[in-house]
Amino acid sequence: MSNPCLFCRIINGEIPAKKLYEDDEVFAFWDISPQAPTHFLVIPKKHLSGPGEMSAEDEALIGKVVRIGAQLARKNGVEQCRLVMNNGADAGQTVFHLHLHVLGGRTLSWPPG
Ligand code: AMP
Ligand code: ZN
Repeated sequence: MSNPCLFCRIINGEIPAKKLYEDDEVFAFWDISPQAPTHFLVIPKKHLSGPGEMSAEDEALIGKVVRIGAQLARKNGVEQCRLVMNNGADAGQTVFHLHLHVLGGRTLSWPPG
């Protein structure tokens, strides 16, 4: 049976995505429904349902997700950006594989809706 997690399937190449970056631990791809001129997702290859499932052993990995996100933003011409993780359905999470949104290229308002 194939993995039911959408983002695990993207990592495995079962579902196509516009890849931005990949190494042995991290994968980044453009969001299918961009909310800003630049909007991509950075995910760990390790399946974690969200920040709430992290344990201490994941700290370096998720720190790397954040570093790669900021570096990719700069590489794509966006110096100032929002890096956000939704944690749970009420926070807007719809895909339950931890992911960092990187949004930029326009002025972003605060607070979010
Ligand atoms: P969240 O609402 O925080 O769980 O974010 C999930 C994000 O995944 C949304 O911004 C979606 O647009 C995005 N998304 C869903 N399916 C795909 C896909 N097949 N390829 C790229 N991005 C996707
Ligand atoms: Zn997954």
